[in-house]
Amino acid sequence: MSGDAAAARAAILTEALPYIQRWQGRIVVIKYGGNALADAVGPDGESEALASFASDVVLMRSVGMCPVVVHGGGPQIGALLARVGKESAFVDGLRVTDAETLEIVRMVLLGQVNPDLVAAINVHGAMAVGLSGADGRLLTTRVADPALGLVGEVERVNPSVVHRLLEQDLIPVIATIGADPSGQAHNVNADTAAGAIAEALNAEKLIYLTDIAGLRRDVADPASLVSSTTASELEVMLKSGVISSGMIPKVISCLKAVNSGVGQAHILDGRLPHALLLEIFTDEGIGTMVTPG
Ligand code: ADP
Ligand code: MG
Repeated sequence: MSGDAAAARAAILTEALPYIQRWQGRIVVIKYGGNALADAVGPDGESEALASFASDVVLMRSVGMCPVVVHGGGPQIGALLARVGKESAFVDGLRVTDAETLEIVRMVLLGQVNPDLVAAINVHGAMAVGLSGADGRLLTTRVADPALGLVGEVERVNPSVVHRLLEQDLIPVIATIGADPSGQAHNVNADTAAGAIAEALNAEKLIYLTDIAGLRRDVADPASLVSSTTASELEVMLKSGVISSGMIPKVISCLKAVNSGVGQAHILDGRLPHALLLEIFTDEGIGTMVTPG
């Protein structure tokens, strides 16, 4: 390594120091979107982006932050439904979920996506523990709208199981299947669940890793990226209709979270290798940052 290269590396590590100190012991909820995950996994199942996500989360944990991972799995659920020849309808971005669809949703989230994430993190050590919203009654849900079937809306979050895992230096990895008080499972939107979990944990940060560089004023124009915004500006954007489809639950959850005490919320491109590190440990940050304003 040349002297210049060594100095540049030292500068990068030094730049990280105040962030490492600032986030010591702080809870950061990271929602890893199904689309970012789908793009992360190549045809041979190998995934650089997934591996970089996993090592970022482990690095966060290793320097004393408390990452909590919440994941989606829409495209993966869609793929298995297609394999069994079942189609789903969507209403406002939510999958209409009959009993058979719920079975597939549970198979994919609890049998595939969640263990894949846990395994990717645990390549680096015995740290990640997978759980669903039914574990420790983390997410108590009720039917959101009878027309949507077994889609749950979060009625109550009991974060005690997550706190207990964090106290043991573990990394919780949460699949967003909730249960109603009778034990009936519900399919919960992962964006909404991540926001509700961040609020209940009094998280310092809520980060959405998705498949776009951040929030845009015009979804078709990459130059319209909003790098920093406030809750009140977001409300105006929501009303103006420039936010659509899968971005709607993220923006609503960011808004709710920062209005309920979460320090800041972010929307980043999870396909970008080391997106988390760039956001957390550098002066520039990336993507969209939402503050209470
Ligand atoms: P995830 O799996 O991360 O939840 P979604 O597809 O549900 O991903 O949501 C991200 C998508 O939201 C983007 O790929 C983009 O097409 C869409 N979107 C809609 N409106 C906007 C906007 N104003 N800015 C950025 N993305 C938007
Ligand atoms: Mg989505």
